[in-house]
Amino acid sequence: MSTIEATLHSNEQKAKQYVKNVYHATEQRNPHETEFLQAVKEIVDSLVPVLARQPQYMESGILERLLEPEKVISFRVPWVDDQGKVQVNRGYRVQFNSALGPYKGGLRFHPSVNESIIKFLGFEQIFKNSLTGQPIGGGKGGSDFDPKDKTDMEIMRFCQSFMTELYEHIGPDTDVPAGDVGVNAREIGYLFGQYKKLRGTFEAGVLTGKGLEYGGSLARTEATGYGLVYFVQEMLKDNGLEFNGSTVIVSGSGNVSIYAMEKAAEFGAKVVACSDSDGCIYDENGIDLDTVKELKEAGNERISAYTESHPNAKYLDDCSSIWSIPCDIALPCATQNEIDEETAKALIANEVKAVGEGANMPSTNEAIDVFRNNDVLFAPAKAANAGGVAVSALEMAQNSSKLMWSFEDVDARLQDIMKDIYQNSMQAATDYGTPGNLVAGANIAGFIKVADAMIAQGVI
Ligand code: GLU
Repeated sequence: MSTIEATLHSNEQKAKQYVKNVYHATEQRNPHETEFLQAVKEIVDSLVPVLARQPQYMESGILERLLEPEKVISFRVPWVDDQGKVQVNRGYRVQFNSALGPYKGGLRFHPSVNESIIKFLGFEQIFKNSLTGQPIGGGKGGSDFDPKDKTDMEIMRFCQSFMTELYEHIGPDTDVPAGDVGVNAREIGYLFGQYKKLRGTFEAGVLTGKGLEYGGSLARTEATGYGLVYFVQEMLKDNGLEFNGSTVIVSGSGNVSIYAMEKAAEFGAKVVACSDSDGCIYDENGIDLDTVKELKEAGNERISAYTESHPNAKYLDDCSSIWSIPCDIALPCATQNEIDEETAKALIANEVKAVGEGANMPSTNEAIDVFRNNDVLFAPAKAANAGGVAVSALEMAQNSSKLMWSFEDVDARLQDIMKDIYQNSMQAATDYGTPGNLVAGANIAGFIKVADAMIAQGVI
């Protein structure tokens, strides 16, 4: 072994030990936060080659600082339901990292929300936002409020109460929330209205995902799903494949899923299945997206109702059954950990060629290993679903310049951003010794920018 090789080897051992120690300390400090720890493990393991080559990141305690949110806000959200009964939910905002810009990330309203979920989402958001190349830090928030089966007025009262507590902590240059699961244009509207009333000023840039009438951006609704397909298209192209002529499955039937289906179909794919939390539909002729939009965007219906107008489609009474349907490309767009090791193996048995994550952390770390070990092309969420937040940053730019760009302009910028994320992640993977590994590449490319900004700004 040459002297250089010996030094590299010893640095690598040091970096491995450092990562192990840091992860262990994170486990001790955050016991029971399984989702947060899962997200941390995936990132820190892939950073070993970076830390070995640039020990200054270890010396300046970057990981220790990155793993601790700058601020965690937790608050009571009382509201009155239609029966006059008082309900109490819990609200959160985790302001994770502001090295690159104001905290930026969505709000999730779902009964499963707890501090671990919001911390995992906020932590992922730091790297995702860094990858977009836009000046945005990482944050996330939400509530264990369940919007399902709530009336419009109940949703409004809940949003107003939520914002009554949150408003002091956010602002166009401080923290800019947006939507996530359970939070769409309607909720953003009610949240914005309450913020405006409490502040007494019209600060358009405080929230993104707004309606087009009052500061929203064209193409924001489509951005996450379209962006996912643009990213996966780049990955396929690099490997001599394409959407055109392939069979695609997209889990979920919310905003990300609907626009991923739309763009995949536009690129010539046949999308045969989608789902909601109750079950999934399988339409061999290709999903009729207008019907899905009618059920899910216009109405508040279950996906099972699809078979009423499409009697040839099958309904499977369990949302995880979607992964037993054969496909060339799988786009998980429903929720975290929807693909575990067994599911990954089932997809491989059905000869899946590529997986692109539209949801946040839809594959467990074990599932990712299975895909990688079986040469399935894998586009990780942090990179592949960054289109939504990227267009949110474009919405902020439009708001601060008081301009509104055309759909074509925003969409063209989105395509460029997704291509850049793909190229930068591939480049980082090659530079750090794991060519083609987009999981490592995205983590590394996202990390380096944040770490360098943190070093430049001193220990704060
Ligand atoms: N919730 C989305 C995400 O996971 C978008 C966040 C935003 O637009 O701020 O990235």
